Amino acid sequence: MKLVRIIAGSCAIENETQALVLAEKLKARGITEMRAALFKPRTNPNDFQGIGYDGLPILREIQNMGLKTVTEVVGVRQIEKLYDYVDVFQIGARNMQNFELLKEIGTTNKPIILKRGFANTVYELLMAAEYIKQSGNKDITLCERGIRSFDDVTRNVLDIGAIIYLKQNTNYKVIADPSHSTGNRNFVRSAAKAAIAAGADGIIVEVHEQPDKALSDSKQTIGLEIFDKILEDLWNK
Ligand code: PEP
Ligand code: MN
Repeated sequence: MKLVRIIAGSCAIENETQALVLAEKLKARGITEMRAALFKPRTNPNDFQGIGYDGLPILREIQNMGLKTVTEVVGVRQIEKLYDYVDVFQIGARNMQNFELLKEIGTTNKPIILKRGFANTVYELLMAAEYIKQSGNKDITLCERGIRSFDDVTRNVLDIGAIIYLKQNTNYKVIADPSHSTGNRNFVRSAAKAAIAAGADGIIVEVHEQPDKALSDSKQTIGLEIFDKILEDLWNK
């Protein structure tokens, strides 16, 4: 029984073959929503930025396979260009308080995943969601993706308390990102289980057929072997 929502895919779409081979593997496992980012907000401008609009035909092919595309939008002007190729719009951590983007995405009628900024409070997350709602779109899923702390054993700190709080005090759907929150592929499975135990409705997880070769976030990207264990944990138990 598939009670838990699982969105999976590489950090970014890298090329047609990589994306479509992965899409097949995900589909064969019963996944219905694929991470399909064309633009990556990177700290270093010299790092891989995503393939941009060249990837639109790839998004269409993913859709034609019957998978929904979950794609981050990093600027207001992108919304229109991406619109027909994207099934779920993702607002990333760095744009959680880009209020103009929130207002604009709120005018669309597609589901939205709003990620918590890594230095934002839960109240600020809820107010960001409010911006989207006030533009008309109420189909919002909040995503806990880890917050910054003083420790560096994990890339971020998965805020389990925030998941508990949101599920107990709001009506939002809540998912967790065990990839960006831990930054370590060996921690992803446990973090996914912890998030679901805390009440999360699902996860968004970075998966790549050859995780060591992923062009971005390789260290936190799991291969299909670990992914299958997560599916076993979350769907078959
Ligand atoms: C992502 O999910 O692709 C991403 C960039 O994550 P975040 O915005 O949480 O850093
Ligand atoms: Mn990533």
